[in-house]
Amino acid sequence: MVTFIGTREMQNHLSKVRLEDAITRLASMIKDDYLRWQAFDKCARVASHSDVGVIELMPISDGRQYSFKYVNGHPKNTQAGLLTVTAFGVLADVDTGYPRLLSELTITTALRTAATSALAASYLARPSSRTMALIGNGAQSEFQAVAFHAMLGIEELRVFDVDPAATDKLIHNLRLYPKLRIVRANSVADAVKGADIITTITADKANATILTPEMIEPGMHLNAVGGDCPGKTELHAEILRNARVVVEYEPQSRVEGEVQQMPADFPVTELWKILEGSEQGRMNEKQVTVFDSVGFALEDFSAMRYLEKYVMQKNSPLLDLIPEMMNPKDLFGMGMANASALNPARGNTEIAVPINA
Ligand code: NAD
Repeated sequence: MVTFIGTREMQNHLSKVRLEDAITRLASMIKDDYLRWQAFDKCARVASHSDVGVIELMPISDGRQYSFKYVNGHPKNTQAGLLTVTAFGVLADVDTGYPRLLSELTITTALRTAATSALAASYLARPSSRTMALIGNGAQSEFQAVAFHAMLGIEELRVFDVDPAATDKLIHNLRLYPKLRIVRANSVADAVKGADIITTITADKANATILTPEMIEPGMHLNAVGGDCPGKTELHAEILRNARVVVEYEPQSRVEGEVQQMPADFPVTELWKILEGSEQGRMNEKQVTVFDSVGFALEDFSAMRYLEKYVMQKNSPLLDLIPEMMNPKDLFGMGMANASALNPARGNTEIAVPINA
């Protein structure tokens, strides 16, 4: 039997723990896994693009456990009442190849993305950072706000979205965090002026320029999350040229990240090197730093470890996904015999096909 964690189990979990504690704990598990970078068999995710979005598979293994995530990104979905990003995933044992856990990862992706952003910022943003601009106030945005409030000590949030209803929703949801002062901005430029950190988490399948060079002030940290597939970026190239750019997994980020706009030899630093201390994060107070986030399979591996450790219960639902057999060589005997043409009990199950089908 395979344990199942659905959205109901996740909602139940998050009703019992504080969201900021869940994100902080997950960030620590993500850091632990990034520090084991060499142990992982890594590859860039496999993407299937259409005119309106992308569907991706994200596999990874540390030799003991294997995970993959199925995730989509469809910016126009919200117009039809659907989420832009949905996901589910599997955690399996490498020794047997048997899946152990099948889980929802839509809510979990929002948690792990926010946890990774705040983890990276804790090495890249100025320690004195207290103000963050949050551009794009959709499904992911509150998670980012809570992560930066809890892990970085952000006290003021300046929010902007081209859809005022998205900002209304964000402000309403964040009433649960009274220590977080929220300022509604009239434009991107208004929101980012004087901010220590800028998070861009918009959704548009386009080379957008949410941020332009004149908006960037010395010492800012940019957490660029929304640009995460070919032809989908948020920053003007000139901003990258003048910044220290940190990516998750270089081969994937060169194709999907903000750095897809840059030449192949444009210098980037992988996050794990900064976490282990072999590369410096921020080099001085005036440097502009960019975390060019696209989402890497390792973070979902950590997230599924989190789910197994903190969300899975003795009475979690079990799925009859893999046959359990007395004789593993007798798959046929397990039930196919009943479907055999020679079985008199089978009856006539031929399906009539309409002539004009
Ligand atoms: P969403 O559709 O719920 O919200 C996106 C918001 O961006 C919307 O409210 C929209 O009105 C706003 N927006 C679009 N263009 C804008 C602009 N020019 N200026 C200001 N606001 C604008 O999507 P979501 O689930 O919140 O995801 C946001 C983005 O983050 C998506 O592009 C998604 O692919 C990406 N994402 C990245 C990661 C990662 O690991 N890097 C993980 C999850 C999602």
